[in-house]
Amino acid sequence: MERVLITGAAGFLGSHLCDRFIKEGFQVEAMDNLITGDLKNLEHLTDNERFTFHQHDITEHIHIEGELQHILHFASPASPIDYLKIPIQTLKVSSLGIHNCLGLAKHKGARVTIASTSEIYGDPEVHPQTEEYFGNVNTIGPRGVYDEAKRFQESITMAYHRYHGIETRIVRIFNTYGPRMRLNDGRVLPAFIGQALRGEDLTIFGTGSQTRSFCYVDDLVEGIFRLHFSSETRPVNIGNPDEITISQFAEEIIALTGTTQKVIYQDLPENDPKQRQPDITRAREVLGWEPLVDRAEGLKRTYAYFQTLSEEELYKSEHKDFKAYLKN
Ligand code: UDP
Repeated sequence: MERVLITGAAGFLGSHLCDRFIKEGFQVEAMDNLITGDLKNLEHLTDNERFTFHQHDITEHIHIEGELQHILHFASPASPIDYLKIPIQTLKVSSLGIHNCLGLAKHKGARVTIASTSEIYGDPEVHPQTEEYFGNVNTIGPRGVYDEAKRFQESITMAYHRYHGIETRIVRIFNTYGPRMRLNDGRVLPAFIGQALRGEDLTIFGTGSQTRSFCYVDDLVEGIFRLHFSSETRPVNIGNPDEITISQFAEEIIALTGTTQKVIYQDLPENDPKQRQPDITRAREVLGWEPLVDRAEGLKRTYAYFQTLSEEELYKSEHKDFKAYLKN
């Protein structure tokens, strides 16, 4: 039986990847320091004999006994609000953390897929974004801690690939949504749905003319799974090219939830990208992949999940108090 280490396993994407690898018959070693992740996302797997959870901060040396064939590196705060609150940890996980993962991969002869991001394109001047575009990132802006760490992560991954011959894969993930997103993580979809469920007005940042392209989590996981088992070592965009303005998106959430609240406008965060849409030609050609779940269907499923949350979870709308979790 092959074994896979998934870092960030208790997070939104990490937990869905655990499900997929369990379903495919792997032994899953799930690792998370639980700063932004939540064990609730893995509750249903804890009795599975092919599943083990390790509470560990991967910026410290990673020790796994025995053979290991695969690593999926998905640990990182991923919401702009999170990485503004824990900038140093955000930088460390995609530098020291990936360094440890690559060292482990070299030692075990494992293949590594790293979670990169559309944020490496920054506020893009090329639209839609192809993998050839080098990006437009403000290194010293508030988002720089995430964007630059993710860019470094791609560089060190390619260095280990070229210098040590490690098998590496790089997935550039565009906005993704679905069940198990944190209601209070500050990202636009949980923010809007949470506001609708609590009977609050929906907060649009800026004019709402900025665009995003939202991918349903099942499609994303399928793309990542295909990429990991392909021979493609170049970065691959995985996302849904169906682009929408944030204003239109708010209208869709209002229609979906039936809320009678209105939209209110707040300041646009610094360096907030004006447009974002993946060019997925490479994924189509190399992986035979494309998204299958449209936004109407994906939003329905995601809303159904958020409706199952308790009152307490719904009103725990303050962003996580990270201080309680951090050692350094
Ligand atoms: N946004 C918004 N209202 C919110 C949260 C976010 O208008 O309550 C906007 C945000 O400014 C950005 C877009 O929605 O333009 C997507 O933001 P998100 O934080 O989900 O992720 P990003 O794509 O910026 O990384």
